[in-house]
Amino acid sequence: MFCLKMLVNGEHVGSLSGKSDLIYNPANQEPVAQVCVGSRQEARMALEAAKNAFPDWAVTSARDRGEMLHQAALEVLKKANEISRLLTLEQGKPLKNARMEVMASAQVLEYYAEEGMRNVGQWIASSSARSLVIRQPVGVAALITPWNYPVDLLAWKVGPALAAGCTFVAKPPSLAPLAATEFVRAVTEAGLPAGVANVVHGPGKEVGAELVENPISRKIAFTGETETGRWIMEHAARSIKRVSLELGGQSPLIVCEDADLERAVATCVQRAFSNMGQICISINRIYAAEKIAEEFTSRLVERTQKLKLGDGMDPEVDLGPMFSEAQRQKTRDHIADALAKGAELLCGGREPPGEAYARGYFFLPSVLDGANHTMRVMREETFGPVAPIMRFKTLKEGIDLANDSEYGLAAYVFTESLRTALHLAERLEVGGIGINTGTVMELQAPFGGWKQSGLGRELGPYGLEEYLELKHIRIGV
Ligand code: NDP
Repeated sequence: MFCLKMLVNGEHVGSLSGKSDLIYNPANQEPVAQVCVGSRQEARMALEAAKNAFPDWAVTSARDRGEMLHQAALEVLKKANEISRLLTLEQGKPLKNARMEVMASAQVLEYYAEEGMRNVGQWIASSSARSLVIRQPVGVAALITPWNYPVDLLAWKVGPALAAGCTFVAKPPSLAPLAATEFVRAVTEAGLPAGVANVVHGPGKEVGAELVENPISRKIAFTGETETGRWIMEHAARSIKRVSLELGGQSPLIVCEDADLERAVATCVQRAFSNMGQICISINRIYAAEKIAEEFTSRLVERTQKLKLGDGMDPEVDLGPMFSEAQRQKTRDHIADALAKGAELLCGGREPPGEAYARGYFFLPSVLDGANHTMRVMREETFGPVAPIMRFKTLKEGIDLANDSEYGLAAYVFTESLRTALHLAERLEVGGIGINTGTVMELQAPFGGWKQSGLGRELGPYGLEEYLELKHIRIGV
């Protein structure tokens, strides 16, 4: 079994203490690889390396950085099979989905190779002086990411950071660091100077905390739980760092009475259950108009029961295991709480029977009817394959229910009326709305949350801005 090293100043380094951890496959709990585990000390070494590399990298031309990003995308594609395989083994998702994630990550690099070229300024001649407004890289960026999309969510940060001229230290999730580390290694093979891209492994509360607290980092880009984001924001405040936070979600789906039900059901199954519901923009709460609720619910159950579960390495499966026993237990707890408060379980709600599932964290995708807002499943982030349904009488009631949440990441609406779609789109308190579609992600458009779902935006030109500082140069004439 290989032992995955960290990447500091262009070198593959082990941990100073000699500590390593095993990474396990959630489909069968077998060890997949060993990982060198760092501490605050390795985090400091990586930050120093990124700091030393910054001045030269910051003044390379946008074109040169763009060319390297194009090359980095090619390097990732060359290694796509290996990175995808590691991703499935450590995270559980079906191999075809892992591959889609890796391909999407290469596309992010491609996009920022071009977007970096559009970092233009302003020339202002409104007084006796002249003003030049330019955008410069903010400095060393710390990129901290979770286990559900460990490659793609890192690419969302690596692409704009490098395009802007920042150097970075990445900290992948402790329980799934393999594919993310291989992704950054592939990126460096595009010819990045030593120290521009660094990766450290180790506990968030130690290695991640050092990246946040150390004054060398000038920008923290974080995706993860709202509680962790709150801690990061508080601690980054001590040295007034730039922070962008992509946090938890509790995304509603509103199915209006004029919805195309076939499409709404297909989308709902895909967006509620793919990656076993472990997606920040999963559909977590369904509000169905009374008139169509019965029909929608029965079609949803029928389609959900057709999903095939299994080891992600099997090309036939739709869903793999959950990531961990902790995630599975939280899902069980939320279902039990809903049932105790009057919900009805229409399908799922337990592990699939059979020897094939006995050693993995498998759980059947579950549909609940009769949900209400006293239930945890309607208020907290389950991060599991559960679709609770509640009925509404008027559109106003649907909007009020959807907005009754501390989260505001995404919302989905199904209606055939443009007027209804726009009415809802303007009133829902979220960063992204999918109308008759199951995704709110588009490379060129902003992605991020309102309320306690986050701060700042990723993707598109907005994602690049997060890594740039404005400078005003006033010239007497
Ligand atoms: P966590 O917040 O637990 O961890 C995310 C990352 O932060 C990990 O690398 C973790 O390290 C690290 N970390 C933990 N504590 C600290 C700290 N004090 N300082 C710095 N870094 C720290 O999230 P999960 O990994 O459990 O991911 C699931 C969460 O991510 C869900 O809530 C989900 O909604 C959210 N998410 C949000 C998305 C969005 O775009 N809004 C997208 C995807 C997920 P370690 O692994 O060592 O603990």
